Amino acid sequence: RSSAEKFEFQAEVSRLMDIIINSLYSNKDIFLRELISNASDALDKIRFLSLTDKEILGEGDDTKLEIQIKLDKEKKILSIRDRGIGMTKEDLIKNLGTIAKSGTSAFVEKMQTSGDLNLIGQFGVGFYSVYLVADYVEVISKHNEDKQHVWESKADGAFAISEDTWNEPLGRGTEIRLHLREEAQEYLEEHKLKELVKKYSEFINFPIHLWATKEVEEEVPAEEDDASDDEDNAESKSSEEEEEDAEKEEDEKKPKTKTVKKTTSEWELLNDVKAIWLRSPREVTDEEYTKFYHSLAKDFGDEKPLTWSHFNAEGDVEFKAVLFVPPKAPHDLYESYYNANKSNLKLYVRRVFISDEFDELLPKYLNFLLGLVDSDTLPLNVSREMLQQHSSLKTIKKKLIRKALDMIRKLAEEDPDESSDTDKKEVEESGDSNEKKGQYAKFWNEFGKSIKLGIIEDATNRNRLAKLLRFETTKSDGKLTSLDKYIARMKSGQKDIFYITGTSKEQLENSPFLENLKKKGYEVIFFTDPVDEYLMQYLMDYEDKKFQNVSKEGLKIGKESKLKQLKESFKELTKWWKGALASENVDDVKLSNRLANSPCVVVTSKYGWSSNMERIMQSQTL
Ligand code: ADP
Ligand code: MG
Repeated sequence: RSSAEKFEFQAEVSRLMDIIINSLYSNKDIFLRELISNASDALDKIRFLSLTDKEILGEGDDTKLEIQIKLDKEKKILSIRDRGIGMTKEDLIKNLGTIAKSGTSAFVEKMQTSGDLNLIGQFGVGFYSVYLVADYVEVISKHNEDKQHVWESKADGAFAISEDTWNEPLGRGTEIRLHLREEAQEYLEEHKLKELVKKYSEFINFPIHLWATKEVEEEVPAEEDDASDDEDNAESKSSEEEEEDAEKEEDEKKPKTKTVKKTTSEWELLNDVKAIWLRSPREVTDEEYTKFYHSLAKDFGDEKPLTWSHFNAEGDVEFKAVLFVPPKAPHDLYESYYNANKSNLKLYVRRVFISDEFDELLPKYLNFLLGLVDSDTLPLNVSREMLQQHSSLKTIKKKLIRKALDMIRKLAEEDPDESSDTDKKEVEESGDSNEKKGQYAKFWNEFGKSIKLGIIEDATNRNRLAKLLRFETTKSDGKLTSLDKYIARMKSGQKDIFYITGTSKEQLENSPFLENLKKKGYEVIFFTDPVDEYLMQYLMDYEDKKFQNVSKEGLKIGKESKLKQLKESFKELTKWWKGALASENVDDVKLSNRLANSPCVVVTSKYGWSSNMERIMQSQTL
């Protein structure tokens, strides 16, 4: 078209498209999921805006918030349209080609090193998956604030935009037309599309219709091809009485019409739009939760979530929520920890999607959770900003944290690896233990750091979070153990919980600080994560037991009276030592009972940094 304006794709987008086009990736089906997900997002947006401005929906068919799929076998076109918010000309230019999203280069990089195309949606570039099946794509779009425009591209590095003067007016929304490649003709088959919508779009909260052919049985007049009728009719006409009888007979036995099969087309609803979170948890199967998780995570692999919690909060603030613990932490979970507040919780108010960028729902340290909250208490007709300040949010947040921590505690309780030897048997006998075996260690491996950050940041729930801590100790035999188990094993007379910090267990195992403790049979916790130093500045006690860093001043083991005696008799020697060492090097020289074989050791003062902390701080400032 001569009036079309031409644009070049941004370089990374162009590279991404090349990769998609040349991909030998076998699961091309995913493009439909991405298009339906975009349509659903666009519908969510207009529905949200309509809460404060009814007019925005327009009238007639435009008010129907739905998705429609049509097939044109002759022209080999598959089209998907929505009555969502639509895109202005500027939106089309920005969103579909000229501005690369932050995930674009990350995804390109990933694809070059054996990445999985299936994850395209997670990187915010799902739209381009259309080029898995099409060699030419048209996007027709009408936004309330602009004229209808067409975006088109053959993925040859450029796209064109024209004002649409030839297609039927859309009213509002977007229609994507895929001119299917020769080898992608299967997507013109109705059964294939029905199957895909079932598979990928089960949790889309808008109706998805397919313009489907249907065989209908139709009644048609039967006279012409029924020869025997003539005779009967002639006879029956001989007298009035007989005619009446015959008519009755005819009505019963010989209908004047017959049924024939005809094909027509009509909109067929493909999905069930009842939201899973509105159903009773007892009725939802594990498989359904897993599928729902996959749709929320935009991850359609076969890994199951580690655990989930689906509940209904009642009282002053009513809401329903589903929370999932993913099987793996996203690659940038901690990278962005202090910069971004990326919650993965969707907020709905009375079934209407409001936002997935609500920071107020969960504290940062629980950002690894995925899920949604649907509240009946929050008001619908206010702006996002006002909602953000609504007093109910505090209550919701509080309950969500409790439920999340409960869910994680249960994950541990149900894991046979976690139970102590005495109650192990019982758990093993209770059915599904195999599936739950090792799940908590997996959780700890992926998200342990989040729990530690929680202890640092969330004073209210510190004790609950401390219960979830896992670590190795001098007695744990290479396995993870907990504070509760540590306390259960404490020697009689032991008051404090002993720990030591450092870079690795191997390094710490031979530390002179442990000599005497080990010899006397005391258990010492190894804290080897850099965050542990910070953690222990906040975790002062647990179940009335104080934490004691064994490399710091104040360690008390065994009988103190004996030590007192010894201190007296070595008074002169320690004094001499102190004088011999310059005061800028040491604060004090003391007699200690922490050593067994080594003659002396450098100890940090109670309130100073441990040597490990010094090391961490140095590595951070350098
Ligand atoms: P994402 O959906 O993760 O943002 P996509 O590549 O799937 O990434 O889509 C890019 C952008 O194009 C969307 O963010 C949206 O702004 C726009 N877009 C795509 N499809 C539609 C649609 N059907 N209606 C309105 N906008 C759309
Ligand atoms: Mg998308």
